[in-house]
Amino acid sequence: MKKYLDIIGNSFSGYWNYLVSEITNPSWTNYFYWLIGLSLLVFVLEIIIPWRKKQPVIRKGFWLDAFYILFNFFLFSLIGYNALSNVGVELFNDFLGLFGFTNIVAIEVQAFPVWMQLFIMFIIADFVQWNVHRMLHRVPWMWQFHKVHHSVKEMGFAAQFRFHFLETIVYKSIQYIPLAMIGFGIEQFFVVHMFAVFVGHLNHANLDWNYGKLGFIFNNPRMHIWHHSKELPDEHPYGMNFGLTLSVWDYIFGTAYVPKSGRDIEIGFHDDDDFPETFSEQVIYPFKKQDQ
Ligand SMILES: [Zn+2]
Ligand SMILES: [Zn+2]
Repeated sequence: MKKYLDIIGNSFSGYWNYLVSEITNPSWTNYFYWLIGLSLLVFVLEIIIPWRKKQPVIRKGFWLDAFYILFNFFLFSLIGYNALSNVGVELFNDFLGLFGFTNIVAIEVQAFPVWMQLFIMFIIADFVQWNVHRMLHRVPWMWQFHKVHHSVKEMGFAAQFRFHFLETIVYKSIQYIPLAMIGFGIEQFFVVHMFAVFVGHLNHANLDWNYGKLGFIFNNPRMHIWHHSKELPDEHPYGMNFGLTLSVWDYIFGTAYVPKSGRDIEIGFHDDDDFPETFSEQVIYPFKKQDQ
């Protein structure tokens, strides 16, 4: 028991030092500055070549989403720090041990070249997330959490980060478990994660892009806006375009849907008029009893 208390204690004091050094030491592997840099880049693109020209640059919900970016950054980095410093690894291994798993290294992935490791990790992680995202729409109690993301009423890059913090916990742990089991480390995860952040910013951005034929592989703004459509077509009652970074899963499994230009469609969900608009109310929303 003392072992775990030490782990938790070290984790929090170490996290604070880690955050301070992360913010005071810009470097090429610095998550904080990558996040700020990518956000500014996509924001500038939205200002120069907007898709919906009438949409204000500081759209509805902009500051709320800016706050979500910061909040979720601190949460991500807490999880990242724990994994990086191996504080959580002990817990994780003990947890696996409960089920009789020890030292699971299914494939000697470490023997592959780095680019191949990254590629495999990216594909696995994205497919896992695609499945989780579908569940968020299918399972009623999970949908209560995911409504936060769909409460966006005007799209812009920062909307990517509007989601309930439990989604991060669910996404990242479900994603990390298979990766950890086949022997991937968090260092490689950083590159994959930053790439996903960039594509995710673009998916939500006010930009008229679908990358041509590459849009059948990569998710894009013209496709993802339909994921946010308030009205759902009869053939997709639980929604469509569940892809995070890749759109290819939706094309393979028949959940892709881009019938026409989605530039001016209404986004949101049924009955979103009475959905709360402040951060704290959105956080507690899924825990309250819902009428439906
Ligand atoms: Zn969704
Ligand atoms: Zn979205």
